[in-house]
Amino acid sequence: STILSNWLARSAENRPQHLAIACNGLRWTFSELDRQATLLAEKFALAGIGAQSRIAVLTGSGLPYVACVHALMRLKAILVPLNLRLTAQELSWQLRDVQAIALLSDLAHQDLARQLAQLLPDLPLGLLHHPSPEVGLTPLVDQQLPFSVRPVQSVAPLNWTINLADTQAIMYTSGTTGTPKGVVLTYGMHWWNAVGSALNLGHQLDDIWLACMPLFHVGGLSILMRSVINGISVILQEKFEPAVVNQTLIDEKVTIISVVAIMLQRMLAELDTREPGGRYPEALRCVLLGGGPAPRPLLEDCASRKIPVVQTYGLTESASQAVTLAPGDALRKLGSAGRPLLPVQLSIRNEGQVAAPNEPGIICLKGPGITPGYDHRPEATAQAIVDGWLSTGDIGYLDEEGYLYVLDRRSDLIISGGENIYPAEIEAALLAHPDVQEAGVCGQADTRWGQIPIAFVHLQAQSVATAEQLLAYTEQRLARYKVPRALYIVGPLPRNASGKLLRRELNKLRPPSSS
Ligand code: AMP
Ligand code: MG
Repeated sequence: STILSNWLARSAENRPQHLAIACNGLRWTFSELDRQATLLAEKFALAGIGAQSRIAVLTGSGLPYVACVHALMRLKAILVPLNLRLTAQELSWQLRDVQAIALLSDLAHQDLARQLAQLLPDLPLGLLHHPSPEVGLTPLVDQQLPFSVRPVQSVAPLNWTINLADTQAIMYTSGTTGTPKGVVLTYGMHWWNAVGSALNLGHQLDDIWLACMPLFHVGGLSILMRSVINGISVILQEKFEPAVVNQTLIDEKVTIISVVAIMLQRMLAELDTREPGGRYPEALRCVLLGGGPAPRPLLEDCASRKIPVVQTYGLTESASQAVTLAPGDALRKLGSAGRPLLPVQLSIRNEGQVAAPNEPGIICLKGPGITPGYDHRPEATAQAIVDGWLSTGDIGYLDEEGYLYVLDRRSDLIISGGENIYPAEIEAALLAHPDVQEAGVCGQADTRWGQIPIAFVHLQAQSVATAEQLLAYTEQRLARYKVPRALYIVGPLPRNASGKLLRRELNKLRPPSSS
């Protein structure tokens, strides 16, 4: 196994006074972030958190989360970031599945954390304080709510090294089966991802990366890792506000920003209200566009404005970017997701064979930046990863020069505003209703969100349930973005000979008046 020095501690030694992170009017240098992480880690250790402790975190994208990420690294504890868009029911399922030993929240999410604690009475709660500009150095853990997860005689020591084989985080993604799985994210995955990203985009000492996407997704978390590995600054914005993002890009010499398509579309629309066809300052050298398909008109609009967009393809299982366009290729290869980053091997497989150039197949990835598997799910891991090759389920092809074009996402996945929605999960929620005999969900194109989920339900005989009642039922069980935008009560659903639901044919069941 490979051992490295703690990344943040090294950046604090190398560039103590350099800006590490700016958020909500506070600016922490690497030295300050390092100090905050140590203070918090000491508190965690006193509460009994140590190596392998699984700690769930329910906070916004603020300094408490950032300090917490680094504090847990110092204890070799495992971060379990929770998606704030999920319901208490969905979250409590994940907390049980991952066997979290404590739940940390910030003030803004304390009510939800308390709700979860009622569902899981044995789960200790901890509160992370938001530092204010005046008292920026107050400890981040509430004195009033001490929690203890094990006898205090076993206070864990702080670690100043990182073993690349260790697990840094477990992050949940839903599967085609509808049951979420915890993806194991190792330090090595972050390390190789940061190295691969820097080799492709270039590493500059004055880089400033704007993070305005959720830190509970891998696209956000990986920015924090690159910051301490490369010693570069991050500007963190809790909420995505196009006007605020644009103003920051104009004022703050931001060099790189990570976005999904809908964010970029809204940024350009806002830019147009300032000046039609407006541009960004020269300092902005890379707009990293990922998380889902990159609409061609958006890429062309950016090209005409000389906005340096590069498309990237990746997934939680690859700790974010696996394939990224090189900035120099952005115009020549418009529409391509680029070439695999150096630590990543890519192969397109068609019925088990390596596909020829321009022949579509399943995108498979291998290398030290790819997950070793799913937490406590050996079957799911064995199914997804064969001989080290992760089968993503996404469909794409390589052109003659080896550039990837992504054609279709993994089976039936709906991507709505950057959030993944698995039809099976919504179908399972509907099928739990006693009046529902069959349920099918598919995506419908939507100009704002890319896609939205719509549902088709075949009721039990004699049932008089209405679409409104069924939607209200799912609202209690599913995150808002997963609740179908329309629900049609129809006859039996289309299935193949072996009874498998044919989701792609669901749309034909729509009453003519609604299309
Ligand atoms: P997640 O695990 O939430 O990061 O979702 C990853 C999924 O997003 C991939 O499996 C793809 O289906 C989709 N995706 C990511 N990047 C792209 C891209 N450049 N083009 C099309 N789909 C993408
Ligand atoms: Mg995604």
